[in-house]
Amino acid sequence: MNISAFINKDRLVKIFIDLININSPSFGEKELGRLLSQNLKTAGCRVEVQKYDRSFNLIALKKGSIKDSSPLLLSGHMDTIEPTTGIRFETKGGIIRSIGNTVLGADDKSALAQIIETLMVLKEKKIPHGDIEIVFTSAEEKGLFGAKNLDFGRLKSRHALILDSGGPVGNLVIAAPSHITYEMRISGRPAHAGIEPEKGINAIRVSSEIIAAVPDGRIDAETTANIGMINGGTATNVVPKEVVIHGELRSHDKKTLRDTKKIIFDTAKDIAKKNRAGIRITDQEEYRAFRIDRKEPFLRFLGGVYKDCGVEPVNTVTGGGSDANIFNQQGILGVNISTGMQKVHSHDEYIHLNDLTRGCLVVLKTVMDFPGFRRDKPGR
Ligand SMILES: [Zn+2]
Repeated sequence: MNISAFINKDRLVKIFIDLININSPSFGEKELGRLLSQNLKTAGCRVEVQKYDRSFNLIALKKGSIKDSSPLLLSGHMDTIEPTTGIRFETKGGIIRSIGNTVLGADDKSALAQIIETLMVLKEKKIPHGDIEIVFTSAEEKGLFGAKNLDFGRLKSRHALILDSGGPVGNLVIAAPSHITYEMRISGRPAHAGIEPEKGINAIRVSSEIIAAVPDGRIDAETTANIGMINGGTATNVVPKEVVIHGELRSHDKKTLRDTKKIIFDTAKDIAKKNRAGIRITDQEEYRAFRIDRKEPFLRFLGGVYKDCGVEPVNTVTGGGSDANIFNQQGILGVNISTGMQKVHSHDEYIHLNDLTRGCLVVLKTVMDFPGFRRDKPGR
C-alpha cells in the first residue's frame, strides 16, 4: 500500500505556514494554542487545555476504534526560540527558509504540522488505530517548562514519539545527558578603591581565580561543563562586594556528573576560603539522562518503520536536553525523532518540503503499524 499518497502535501504545507505565521515565543503560546486546538478538533480530537502558572499545555485524545489496545503518544512543543516577530520566509526550490533576521520556527512547528496532518489523514481515510494521545508543550526552549508542569496523571501511553530533533529525517535520539545548573554567590568586602583598598576583599578577583581553576568545557566524551554568566561589581572606585556566577554541567554518566560537580564546588570553596571570601552555592537538577537500549522493541519497530519509508534510521546520542528527558523520566519510553528541520536556532533555519512530507510519512506509518494497536502482537 502506497500510504505516502494519503498525505495531502498542500494541506501539510498550509498547516505549517499558518503555524509559523503566528508568533509564539516561550510563555506566549496563547494564539498558537487556539489555532492548534481548532486543527486538532477538525482532525477529530478531544482537546484539553492544561494550565500551569506561566503557560499551558494542550493535551488531546484521538479516540481509536481498536479496543484493548495500548495508546501511543505524539508530542511536539509550541514555543520557538526568538526572534520570530515579523518573520519573513520564502519558498524556493522546494525549501522553506527564513529570509529576515528571525528564525523560521520549524523548530518545532514542523512537528506540530506533521502530527496534525497525520491525524487528518487517519480521519479522512478512516484508518483503524488505537487511542492516540497528543501533547503540545510550552516553553520547551526556556527549560522544558511545559513538560515539567505536564499532568502526567492524565496520560495512559507508555510509548511516545517526540518530534523535536533536527537534521535529516531518520535521526533518532536514543540518549541524552542529565543536566545540572548552579549558582555561586561570592561575597567579598567592599572598600574605597583609592583610599583604603587594603581593607577590601575583591569578589571579582576571587571569582576569576575560581573560574580559571574549575574544570570547564569538555570533561570527557560524555560530560561537559560551562560557566555561562557572571555578574558583579558596582563602580570602578569600589572594591567589589559580590559576584554571582551561573554555570551548568551535563553528563550521560551519573557518577561522573556527581564527581565533576564535587570537584567544581570544592575547588570554589577552597579558593574562597583562602581569600577570606564568603561563598554560597545552590544547584538544581534540570532533567535526568536517558538511554534507550538498542534492543528495545519499540526502537526496533521504529527502525522498521523508517526502512519501510525508504529512510535509513540513524541512532544518535545528543548533548542537549528536550521534552524527551522528562517523558522518559516519567516512565514513558519516548524517542526524539527528526522532523527534517535544519540549522535550527539560527536565522538560516530551513526545511525541505520533501522532508516535511517524509517526516509526516514516518509519523503516519508509525501510527498505522504501532504494535500496541494490534491485539495479537507483543511489544506493547
Ligand atoms: Zn525544539
